[in-house]
Amino acid sequence: MSVRISDNTLEVFNPATGEELSSLTITSHSDLDSILIKSKEAAESYNYSSFFKRQQLMTQFSKGIVRNMDEFVEIVCSETGKKSVEGLMEVFISLEHITQSLNHHYEALGKKSRRVGILKTRKAWIEYEAMGVAGIISPWNFPLILTASPLVEAILAGNTVVLKPSEQTPLTTQLLKKVWDEATGETELFQPVYGAGDLGNAIVCSQNTDVICFTGSTAVGRKIAEVCAPIFKPVILELGGKDPMIVLEDADIDRSVEAAIWGGLSNAGQTCISVERIFVQEKIYSEMVNKLSDAIQQISSGTEDSSVGAISVDTTLEKIKNQIANAKISSEVIEGRRSDGWFIAPTLIVNPPFDAAILQEETFGPVMSIHPFKSILNAVELANMTGYGLSASVFGRNKRNIKYISRRINAGVISINDVLTHYGIADLPFGGIGLSGIGKVHGKEGLRAFSHQKGYISTRIQLKSEFWWYKKSKIFGRYLKKLIKWKYL
Ligand code: NAD
Repeated sequence: MSVRISDNTLEVFNPATGEELSSLTITSHSDLDSILIKSKEAAESYNYSSFFKRQQLMTQFSKGIVRNMDEFVEIVCSETGKKSVEGLMEVFISLEHITQSLNHHYEALGKKSRRVGILKTRKAWIEYEAMGVAGIISPWNFPLILTASPLVEAILAGNTVVLKPSEQTPLTTQLLKKVWDEATGETELFQPVYGAGDLGNAIVCSQNTDVICFTGSTAVGRKIAEVCAPIFKPVILELGGKDPMIVLEDADIDRSVEAAIWGGLSNAGQTCISVERIFVQEKIYSEMVNKLSDAIQQISSGTEDSSVGAISVDTTLEKIKNQIANAKISSEVIEGRRSDGWFIAPTLIVNPPFDAAILQEETFGPVMSIHPFKSILNAVELANMTGYGLSASVFGRNKRNIKYISRRINAGVISINDVLTHYGIADLPFGGIGLSGIGKVHGKEGLRAFSHQKGYISTRIQLKSEFWWYKKSKIFGRYLKKLIKWKYL
């Protein structure tokens, strides 16, 4: 187990070693209400804060994270069972995210003038205003990145934040809060709460949250959408994926193999944008299967020197084992090595039937399937088969074919001859379509997702009355007819 939940405590364990790490008090619903009220009160002034102040806070926060880098790596790794380089990557990507968000902060949210068309006596512009209190709910697979990045975006957009990390990985958020408080002194702008789904649901339902940013499974995302829809609460939903990788016959096969290994196995495959399905053009299919099988058999999951870390959560472990066991009934399954404990060997499933769970459901483990395809049209059909649409990758040389496929794949991001790296580019909007969610984080779009886009208009010249107001409406009608013919005929 990675967490034991009792009436009012979360006991957290290291999934790789079973060692008990720490326990925290679960936030009661009445405490959550008081926290939300405090957040609302703080929002009354912070919502109107200057960009300068917000940027100062973020710079202080970023430095605080750097100062505590080793502690972050240790806590992230111990509560997830990740490898230490993976923990360090979380720190790096979070810091890069803050830096890049600061770079495009003003460009994204600064006042923008708009064309006034024929209304030359007016000026018009847009301002991006804070929504109020942002409720952020995070999953366990990247406990630092997936709390820090929405937190940073919400706060840079001028919101206060109440954040619930996954009950599986509360310790990283506990440290993040300590670092925030020490670095900024603004304790009420970011307040974490700890608990399971019922507490998340209370954040979503509360009248004191003005926008929800949820990262997690499609099943829970759907529940949240159902709560938000009748009250029209804005919601950003970053949900599951079943990412395809398409390898065309003119691709660099060795690079494609290495990319599949990295894209499918890093973080033990517990990445929403993991490569889960590989589709290879017939001509190079056998070579790709052979090379990938050889590579996968040389990799091991386990503690110490193994490349692939633990599966962080017991229910996910069971799901992956079941999917592999079912796949073994009808398909060839190639496996690498694994240690005892919460580890799944790197696995390649060769050409499973299309209705197999391994092809229809998100696996979220170090497991990939591989299939041949004939034409590029066929590749698109296969890639779009699941209803998910988070990200996808295309490997090949012919630019026309790559473009044809890329434009037809249902996905929020396409990587060409690459995998996963796009997540490190914080200027690129991130977010899926279909079952993978709605709305964007990252980039200017991510900052705007936490903002109201308010239109403004003002007079340049002030007359006593306008042509189209009641007093002059008869003359106005005559002139308007002429104007329409002159301007639009
Ligand atoms: P999950 O949906 O089980 O839980 C996510 C969070 O939601 C947790 O904090 C949980 O306590 C909370 N929650 C549960 N029920 C709730 C409810 N009714 N109302 C409000 N909150 C509730 O997901 P998980 O197992 O923690 O994470 C794995 C999933 O997250 C995978 O499907 C993965 O693909 C997805 N994910 C998506 C992205 C992305 O950016 N698209 C990133 C990482 C993970």
